[in-house]
Amino acid sequence: MITLKSPREIETMRRSGKITAAVLGELMQAVQPGMTTRDLDELAERGIRSRGGEPTFKGYRGFPASICTSVNAEVVHGIPGDYTLREGDLLSIDIGTTYEGYVSDSAVTVPVGAVGAEAARLLDVTQQCLMLGIEQMQVGKFVGDIGAAVQAHAEGQGYGVVRELVGHGVGRAMHEEPQVPNYGKAGSGPALRPGLVLAVEPMITQGDRQVDIHKDGWTVVTTDGMLAAHFEHTIAVTLAGPRILTLREIGEHPDAEKYRNHR
Ligand code: MG
Ligand code: MG
Repeated sequence: MITLKSPREIETMRRSGKITAAVLGELMQAVQPGMTTRDLDELAERGIRSRGGEPTFKGYRGFPASICTSVNAEVVHGIPGDYTLREGDLLSIDIGTTYEGYVSDSAVTVPVGAVGAEAARLLDVTQQCLMLGIEQMQVGKFVGDIGAAVQAHAEGQGYGVVRELVGHGVGRAMHEEPQVPNYGKAGSGPALRPGLVLAVEPMITQGDRQVDIHKDGWTVVTTDGMLAAHFEHTIAVTLAGPRILTLREIGEHPDAEKYRNHR
């Protein structure tokens, strides 16, 4: 069942999203060669709790940390630990906050130090995919319009679109209906109505789109070992257009500002 959120609920989700955005911004600024992914996780948990939130991921189906950290060929769901970040790595950070009972969910992929031109292009295109998906979130359109826009851009740039993992509705639970694939047919799927809140999260691969699950039971990796990137926002569909509830002060695509929630 798809639940639509009231303006008041969306406002609470925006406050949740502000915590997620602020902490993710702090993590992006903290990332540097020599730190471990566990260091980032500790920073994230402190950042969320000090702002009155709870880390949604911690304990979710037994997940042991407050963020997911996925490096290079890891696509999503990497577990923070002893891994020491190296110059040239691509690091995906996925973070969720629960605040007053409402979840916000956001992710970015960032370069660790300087990265090669091909890696930088993958990041740019994946962030563009997210923006193109958000642009589709207008009343009168459909969930399939989001995936179609993401897929057309990624594949047009020669990249793969992961099929096994998808975006989702978000609200009192992290994963609500509907599923939001990053591929599909324009005009298909559930209608986008005011009050629908979705986590849109393109997962894009440099090579083939096939993925495997690591033996830790969580980390999703590209089968061919090539790079992957992941960007995510929590966005509300409103009569005034899409509103990004997890908009950051740093590292956003220039188009994101149009979708700022002014309430
Ligand atoms: Mg996420
Ligand atoms: Mg998500």
